[in-house]
Amino acid sequence: MRAGLLIVLSGFILFHVSCTRAETRARKEDGSMGHTTMIAQIERYGIRDPRVIQAMAKVQRHRFIPEKYLGVSDSYGDHPCPIGFGQTISQPYIVAYMTERIAPETGDKVLEIGTGSGYQAAILAELGADVYTIEIIPELADHARKALAEEGYAKVHVRTGDGYKGWPEHAPFDAIIVTCAPDDVPPALVEQLRDGGRMIVPVGEGTQRLVILRKKDGKVEKEEDLAVVFVPMVHGK
Ligand code: SAH
Repeated sequence: MRAGLLIVLSGFILFHVSCTRAETRARKEDGSMGHTTMIAQIERYGIRDPRVIQAMAKVQRHRFIPEKYLGVSDSYGDHPCPIGFGQTISQPYIVAYMTERIAPETGDKVLEIGTGSGYQAAILAELGADVYTIEIIPELADHARKALAEEGYAKVHVRTGDGYKGWPEHAPFDAIIVTCAPDDVPPALVEQLRDGGRMIVPVGEGTQRLVILRKKDGKVEKEEDLAVVFVPMVHGK
């Protein structure tokens, strides 16, 4: 009885150790074990849209984290990761959740404010959206352009500048996603939303709430959603 238990226990320990080793190896090579763990985690949190899950499973998150910050934390872990200049790439769940809430269809024109690493833009592009994204820190905009091109998302339009006023030359947009937090919803962004379009934006100082806006027959419906923490939107008023 005892011997049997010992065999089972040592078998379990051996299995566990070899899995951990295999995981480390796979992560070093291509991040694929990281993907498996990350997808299981976002599904546990309630992400259901199969298109979003597929996109999250395909995009190589670690390829968007600047090399200097790669070893700082697990690129596929359940947390934001530093990308330099005091900025972060959002926690995988938040990326998936915000994407799910704006539900971009193939061919939709989507505006993102706060390109950061370029990861969220890649997820939108993977869903077939025509992506316009604005980043205020020039070095990050350059990094994102390069990472997007290297990962096969060269069609994403990256602009260096202040996203507070949106990108009027390419409006209207079917969806707008803001990944830095303004004190209030920027009016120019509401203006640039197509009728039938939806926007998701973290609003407030310190901790914020995600606000979802839908434009219908010229009227704007507002829904308050999850409490979140994003870096503030920087802009000259
Ligand atoms: N979506 C990003 C993470 C965003 S972090 C990703 O997938 O990696 C928030 C980003 O918003 C930072 O890079 C910050 O520089 C940028 N930002 C802050 N204020 C901005 C503004 N007014 N216009 C454009 N980008 C802004």
